[in-house]
Amino acid sequence: MSKRSKSQGAHFAEQPLPAKRARKNDYRQDQRKQPIPSRHKKSGKLVVAIVVVLVLALLGGGGVMFWRHRPVSITVNGEQRTVLKRSTYAQVFDGESITTKPGNLVSVSGNVLEEGKGYPYSVTVNGIEVPYENAASQPVWGGEKIEFADGKDAMEPHTTEVVELLPKLEFKVAPGTGERGYMVQQGLVQYVTQWGKSGKHEVMHGERTGETAPGKTIEEAQNVVVVAQDIHPDNNQKLVAITFDDGPSYYTEPYLKILDEYDAKATFCIIGEQLADGGPVVSQTSNSGHQIVSHSWSHLQLTTLDEAELQHQLVDTANGLKECVGHDVRYIRPPYGDIDEQVWLKSKGSISVSLFWTHDSLDWEKPGVDKIVQNSTIAMKPGSVILMHDGGGERNQDLEALPQILKAWKDAGYKFVTIEELMKSDSSINMSVVDAGPMPEGSAWPTELATA
Ligand SMILES: [Zn+2]
Repeated sequence: MSKRSKSQGAHFAEQPLPAKRARKNDYRQDQRKQPIPSRHKKSGKLVVAIVVVLVLALLGGGGVMFWRHRPVSITVNGEQRTVLKRSTYAQVFDGESITTKPGNLVSVSGNVLEEGKGYPYSVTVNGIEVPYENAASQPVWGGEKIEFADGKDAMEPHTTEVVELLPKLEFKVAPGTGERGYMVQQGLVQYVTQWGKSGKHEVMHGERTGETAPGKTIEEAQNVVVVAQDIHPDNNQKLVAITFDDGPSYYTEPYLKILDEYDAKATFCIIGEQLADGGPVVSQTSNSGHQIVSHSWSHLQLTTLDEAELQHQLVDTANGLKECVGHDVRYIRPPYGDIDEQVWLKSKGSISVSLFWTHDSLDWEKPGVDKIVQNSTIAMKPGSVILMHDGGGERNQDLEALPQILKAWKDAGYKFVTIEELMKSDSSINMSVVDAGPMPEGSAWPTELATA
């Protein structure tokens, strides 16, 4: 500031000089024609003119200087002060007798290295904090409310490095989930509503301490979101889903015939290793309008598996099913209904929906036809999901129970739909990500859960 005003002042003072020279030249050119007395007279007038111009120039320059640096009124820590306009905040501070406690010199992770070796004071102007480094260059214009306070800590010299920030897995439970007494409070379905994106953040390396600490976030990561929710069809539509686990098997085809007789669509949860023999039946099932879902490769309890084994259980089954049905299969019924956040983490985006049930027929206990029917038809409510089996051994009781179950629900006004249709009947279930298919290119998958 002071440099600029000096050069402007000088420029102003120089202006009259060329005029003075021009007049001198004019006078020399004229002297041959002009008589001597008049020459003296003229020269006297000229000297007066020069002096007047010089004085005016000096007064003008000084006036400008004065105007640029005239006294202005500001408030300093609540008290009215008059300072010269364009004084810096640092100059204002130096002119006051305010006692501030200096900050400390700290390491990148915030450990105190030297007490009192931080910034001597901090300054806030009209409620906005000014970085200490700017206090010596930012000028006062008048009218400001300036507050000086204790100094901030200064950080040791450090380098910064930009690193990728992985998204986290957010597991949300929709309101009201589990109210209908579904097995555990984990939601009738769990599904992805948002894929993840990585962000960027700075990591600081302290040159003095060698410490490493997180710095600013440059770009936030976008978390993966999985929602656990029950299914409540809109307008209480009487929709129900029936699911068959552990197939395909010898029994699948007879089941398909029974389903056709009752105009019922079902969901079949397939064990991957059984596709070697059962592939054609799975294709036939899919072609008949039933939904095909993964039930893992070899019916292992997913929560007990390491990532490599889990990936095999999920990915190889999905690949086998895709060959049979011609599209990506992103739904899974976890064996034993056992899935948790860790399984979702290790799934690395290979599944989009996990489904449970509301009615366990307990058919695998072979409790008798009546008991299977009773277990599958109690407490009928829209959005129910019945669990039965078409694999895992002899299923003669089911063959007898199935028509009775289908009839009972139909008589009560229900329609049998696939899991996907059932989910879509509930507009509070956000199916946009599930419908869009596999995890998009450029997504990032988390390795950690988001902390609530
Ligand atoms: Zn099973």
